[in-house]
Amino acid sequence: MVFDGKAVAAKVLQTLAAENAKLKERYGRVPCLSVLLVGEDYGSTRYVASCEKNAQRAGLECKVVRMAETSSEEEVTEAIRRLNEDSSVDGILVQMPLPKHISQERIVETILPDKDVDGVTDRNVSQLWKQRRNDYSRFCVPCTPRSVMRILEESEIDLDGLNTVVIGRSNIVGMPVSKLLMNENATVTVCHSHTKDLAAIVREADVVVAAIGKAKFVGAEMVRNGAVVVDVGINVDETTGKMCGDVDTEAVKDRCKMITPVPGGVGQLTICSLMENTMDCFKRLHNG
Ligand code: NDP
Repeated sequence: MVFDGKAVAAKVLQTLAAENAKLKERYGRVPCLSVLLVGEDYGSTRYVASCEKNAQRAGLECKVVRMAETSSEEEVTEAIRRLNEDSSVDGILVQMPLPKHISQERIVETILPDKDVDGVTDRNVSQLWKQRRNDYSRFCVPCTPRSVMRILEESEIDLDGLNTVVIGRSNIVGMPVSKLLMNENATVTVCHSHTKDLAAIVREADVVVAAIGKAKFVGAEMVRNGAVVVDVGINVDETTGKMCGDVDTEAVKDRCKMITPVPGGVGQLTICSLMENTMDCFKRLHNG
């Protein structure tokens, strides 16, 4: 089965729109996401446009704060402080990458953890690593890992006791995904660029999550029959110039129980997680 991210995302956004309409009745306004975009990176600009479009579909407000590439770290910090204090803003997303002269680490820690919709501040990271059961209502987990879990849930994959392999150990994808999988009682192996005989490890997996950033890295020889494959990667295929994932979908799909395509898979649900996280921040800020 090839996962239909577009259809599932449409369903999620529709449910969110209905919930947000109820919040408006109760509190007089809908949740509001503020996205801070520094500079004009092509990928970031496209992602922010997609945030605006999908916020509308989810019945949320989305305010984009655009700052020049040449903005200083102090100016960006000050902009975040204003959003922290603005009671009409419930969620803050600082679009990465930031220009090189700005410290990502310092900027992230300026975000009020209660409004941190991508779960990147120290407090939210620490809560994720302490919790033993996935409860998304208490604090925000990063959007992409949350979307990976949503895909597995929608595909009715019972993770309990399954052998899962996550390829990639970044703070924003690989590591949080591995913790969320563990909380569902999966047995988790995390692979990275120093892993020996990676293909043999991946071949043993019931569930593979690929978050590497290398076009079509996972080929048919790495995937066993009946495996579930979630492809997080967003790359450009050098031969065709088209977007592709970390998995060679065409080579692998016939042997999979389920596989997510690129585009049309994880990315679709990641934006939904951003909207869900914003709504959850609103509810917590209103003690709802
Ligand atoms: P990073 O570059 O931060 O991390 C990549 C990871 O892959 C690292 O842990 C690295 O290992 C590992 N890796 C690199 N090469 C190899 C190799 N040859 N063998 C095994 N492991 C390897 O990337 P991100 O986690 O941020 O993103 C991963 C991919 O997911 C990218 O394509 C990105 O564009 C995409 N992405 C998609 C999102 C979505 O919503 N769909 C959201 C975020 C990212 P090591 O730690 O040893 O260096």
